[in-house]
Amino acid sequence: MISSIEGQRPEVRVRPPFPAEKGLFNKPTIVNNVETLAVVPFIIKNEGAAYAALGTEKSSGTKLLSLDSYFERPGVYEVEMGTPLSVVVNELGGGFNEPIKALHIGGPLGGLVPADKIDELTIDFESFDGGGFLLGHASVVCIPEKFSIMTYLVELMHFAAVESCGKCFPCRLGTKRAHEMLEAANTSSYRIDTDLFDDLLHTLTEGSLCAHGGGIPLPVRNALQYFEEELDPYFSREISHV
Ligand code: SF4
Repeated sequence: MISSIEGQRPEVRVRPPFPAEKGLFNKPTIVNNVETLAVVPFIIKNEGAAYAALGTEKSSGTKLLSLDSYFERPGVYEVEMGTPLSVVVNELGGGFNEPIKALHIGGPLGGLVPADKIDELTIDFESFDGGGFLLGHASVVCIPEKFSIMTYLVELMHFAAVESCGKCFPCRLGTKRAHEMLEAANTSSYRIDTDLFDDLLHTLTEGSLCAHGGGIPLPVRNALQYFEEELDPYFSREISHV
């Protein structure tokens, strides 16, 4: 974002130096989410201790959640950290308007939560980390029962490839190759080599310069773990070529 404003290629910068020291036009720059700025009036009015007293020990304060149109009452809700996910789904959102098999929570790099885990999670960082998911910015995108998880992964990886800034090769090449493999398996008799795909996800996680390439394997791994039966026909241990 800073590079874009400066008229340069929109690439991620190596940190340090952090924007707070050297940001826009090399001046100290504070980059905050709107969600963070939105709680400032409450803190000014009630003081920091009152905000810190909300939520759990490690995840203090509140969280904004956006519920998509598969909820009876879609919209943006603010909840205290530690609120059960089931309360968000059933009470605030009013439940689903059609059968849902997974929730993609926290943005494209967030985890893919199977519907049967809704009762196990609470809206805080510890709960999501502990379950192998990511709270992220807490957007909730529903995947209907009738929607193919494979097609979802194809679209997800397409997004990752298109949005890659191209600065580091694990992400620039890895997201593109992963998308090609998923697309080919979804539309032809091509089967993805399980070990090769696992290697690619590992390289993305370990070798990417920022959270974009490093984070995209999480929902894919969640899908492979929780929807193994549905995804199994698209994978093979025997090598084939795109
Ligand atoms: S991980 Fe992707 S988005 Fe991040 S620096 Fe590398 S190429 Fe750019």
